[in-house]
Amino acid sequence: MSDRQIYDITPFTHLDYPGNLACIVWFCGCNMRCMYCYNSDIVFAKEGNYQVEDLYNFLEKRIGLLDGVVLSGGEPTMHDLFPVCRKIRQMGFSIKLDTNGLNTDMIRDLIKEGLIDYIALDFKAMNGKFGYVTGSSRYQNFIQTLQLLVSSQFHFEVRTTVHADLLQPEDINFMMRELKSYGYEGSYYLQKFVETKNNIANLEKPKKDFDETLLEDTLEIVWR
Ligand code: SF4
Repeated sequence: MSDRQIYDITPFTHLDYPGNLACIVWFCGCNMRCMYCYNSDIVFAKEGNYQVEDLYNFLEKRIGLLDGVVLSGGEPTMHDLFPVCRKIRQMGFSIKLDTNGLNTDMIRDLIKEGLIDYIALDFKAMNGKFGYVTGSSRYQNFIQTLQLLVSSQFHFEVRTTVHADLLQPEDINFMMRELKSYGYEGSYYLQKFVETKNNIANLEKPKKDFDETLLEDTLEIVWR
């Protein structure tokens, strides 16, 4: 992989890391191919625009101005995050990781070393639709990460993108029950598919309706 593993840096957000003013680091590459993904440029990028040293230089100038750093992508855990997180930590920032949950080992070790503070875990679909929606057959890896985060009482949230042609209320209800069965008690964040110029499967607006009144109250649902 190229030294330029960072596709881009968003210098400022107050929306992506609850309670923190943060920047977002977009890492190249992903081990999924979610049909609705509008970050295809990042997913397919072999090389980004920045090296980690560029990130460190950027962050040096943001000490005292930003609280945190969001590691996103793409899938950040496809890169060696340990030196990156240690360096960010040394500079005094808190760290949020956006992940699809496939790299349980790295997440376990990052937590063990105290290198991340918060995780947003994407729950793409239940087992029966996981491969179709994501192009990945590694549903069990996602479940392992969920179990790890629940059992270690780590501070995290679970979120799902809803495209009504892919996931219907009965699917979301099933997924909520599954989350609960693994001990997840937090809020369940749902975000509606947003039509963009391009996405991996060239999905358009859903043809089906999504009747929110059919959603059960197994968990507290929060729409974003
Ligand atoms: S939406 Fe899917 S394909 Fe796109 S970056 Fe996230 S995990 Fe990867």
